[in-house]
Amino acid sequence: MIDPFGRHITYLRLSVTDRCDLRCTYCMAEKMTFLPRKDLLTLEELDRLATCFIEKGVKKLRITGGEPLVRKNIIRLFNNLGRHVKSGALEELTLTTNGTQLKHFADDLFKAGVRRINVSIDSLDLDDYKRITRGGNLPDVLEGIQAAIDVGLEVKLNCVALKNDNVEMIEEMMVWAHARNCTMTLIEVMPLGDVGADRLDQYIPLTDIKDKLQKKYTLTAMAKRTGGPSRYMHVKETGGEIGFITPLTQNFCEGCNRVRVTCTGKLYMCLGHGDAADLRQVMRQEQTIGGHDALAQAGALIQNHEMSFDNGLLKAAIDEAITRKPKAHDFKIEKSNQRPALARHMSMTGG
Ligand code: SAM
Ligand code: SF4
Repeated sequence: MIDPFGRHITYLRLSVTDRCDLRCTYCMAEKMTFLPRKDLLTLEELDRLATCFIEKGVKKLRITGGEPLVRKNIIRLFNNLGRHVKSGALEELTLTTNGTQLKHFADDLFKAGVRRINVSIDSLDLDDYKRITRGGNLPDVLEGIQAAIDVGLEVKLNCVALKNDNVEMIEEMMVWAHARNCTMTLIEVMPLGDVGADRLDQYIPLTDIKDKLQKKYTLTAMAKRTGGPSRYMHVKETGGEIGFITPLTQNFCEGCNRVRVTCTGKLYMCLGHGDAADLRQVMRQEQTIGGHDALAQAGALIQNHEMSFDNGLLKAAIDEAITRKPKAHDFKIEKSNQRPALARHMSMTGG
């Protein structure tokens, strides 16, 4: 898959649910209306879609949400997708999680073929964590991180920098992460979805945080790129790495190799644009044409991934969508622009 700007699409982020057991203030509103379950792709459809993308050249697959580990029977999906890691078709199967359920799943994830995970954690202070996540219990996440490290998963920590909530805590988090051999990545808050808060009260440019860290630590830019938007720096004093994802202060689109599929099967070519292709409709149409509809609905396919669809329509729909991938996103947070850049929450498309 090559887009009109010559970028090879090799990375898929697949959201498996819009639901979550937390309500982070920058991600969701306090009262969220979630999608009816019938609108979600079934586990079979998620497997079929991911497999189709892998056949079309995706090498890295990240499962996300919402919170992927609250989706019922999610380990079945990981176990099935693990076959692509075993065959060598997929270089990496990974996930982004808030870590609350990780202690229950770390072992299963490793057995399924996952080797690296991202865990989102925005504070190490019990009360601040509870406030930012609207009710989350920090010890659950810390136990989850330890369980993941113990089974041999490489853990990267994601932290959204929040002007009034965690700026003072970031240095401590970095030192904490590096002491556990974890890379920490800081993320600038993005104006996605109405979260019932003023984005200007949340947003702080990462350049401010980097400047502050540089007063105390020796940060050296690294050539390392993971195909994502993160720019990494080595921290001499801790021996660890810190990543910066700066959608607002520094555009990173020229090297974008990714697309995203929502839990309802909408393919977004860019996180910052509204244009999408409805792959669920194409898949269900193809199922009906193929006569497999009843079986798929009954959930029989995931037990038997030998069952095949032609997938011709699905692949054609993906190809057509890739021709519409835009050159760059267009996020802004400024006084004259208080509305979300996009009505869609991050939990819909997956981070
Ligand atoms: N629930 C999982 C988690 O929190 O890791 C996966 C989904 S979450 C939407 C993925 C990532 O997006 C998290 O690291 C989260 O902090 C980040 N995120 C959510 N809303 C965001 C926003 N408005 N701006 C920047 N990052 C955001
Ligand atoms: Fe849930 Fe992740 Fe969004 Fe927080 S960032 S509300 S954990 S989906």
